[in-house]
Amino acid sequence: MRQMADVNAAIASPDFTTVFSPLDSADAELSDRVAPRDPGVEPVILMEHLTKVYAAQPNKPALDDINLAIYPGEFVFLVGHSGSGKTTLLNTILRNVKPSSGKVLVAGQDLMRIKNRRIPFLRRQIGAVFQDYKLLPNKTAYENVAFALQCIGKPRGVIRAQVPEVLRLVGLGEQMDSLPDQLSGGEQQRVSVARAMVNRPPLLICDEPTGNLDPAISLGIMKLLERINRTGTTVIVATHDREMVDSMHRRVIALEGGRVIRDQERGGYGNYGTL
Ligand code: ADP
Ligand code: MG
Repeated sequence: MRQMADVNAAIASPDFTTVFSPLDSADAELSDRVAPRDPGVEPVILMEHLTKVYAAQPNKPALDDINLAIYPGEFVFLVGHSGSGKTTLLNTILRNVKPSSGKVLVAGQDLMRIKNRRIPFLRRQIGAVFQDYKLLPNKTAYENVAFALQCIGKPRGVIRAQVPEVLRLVGLGEQMDSLPDQLSGGEQQRVSVARAMVNRPPLLICDEPTGNLDPAISLGIMKLLERINRTGTTVIVATHDREMVDSMHRRVIALEGGRVIRDQERGGYGNYGTL
């Protein structure tokens, strides 16, 4: 399949890491790595007794006493049925949603107290990928990614250098001038991954990024996210895709009715027990 070949070629490319922190060659095969939790390493996300009650549903918290810590470099799946609270939790990290009570720290910032004018700076540290890609329909792949950098005031020279590079890295070097409707679903999602990571955010959050894609294409997107994770980026992926989660053996946090019902270091195996 051409798309898969493109993704695999992009992932295999030694240039892949140039946009990110360099890979330590001794750690080249990190697929079994467990992110270090050395004493003194602060979690990139910390939630304590976090609760969100939407006004429209006063008797049914969307998040109910969430406690979790996610450390730099982790790859975490967030699973649960529709309505279990996955999107609300991710939107809390982006501060699109303000929690009702409890504590949430993201990259050391207290989101219960953060000033409105600081929120854009918070969001710049977080790449976000959504199920529906959210590409601008009248802009090419190149322009969609460039726009993300223009919005945060990056100089034109930086944009001209970084955009083609990141598009090549996701396997779209030949399709930079295509409009979204000239691209397949998998290609559009790779544009949105490129857009999310072009600013080299330390944290990448993905809300059902493969929800609209065929299984083979989904695997390519997941492998791309895993490769991004190996460069040091913390990655959180909300998904329904049980097979994908089972095949990747990563940390799995399961939500049900707004509560964490399972938190395992290796999805399905639980070598490290629960937090
Ligand atoms: P998931 O992403 O796991 O499907 P959501 O976070 O979207 O879960 O939803 C969790 C719960 O919060 C559901 O009961 C949903 O109906 C409710 N909810 C989500 N967004 C809103 C909103 N903006 N206003 C009111 N209720 C909401
Ligand atoms: Mg959702």
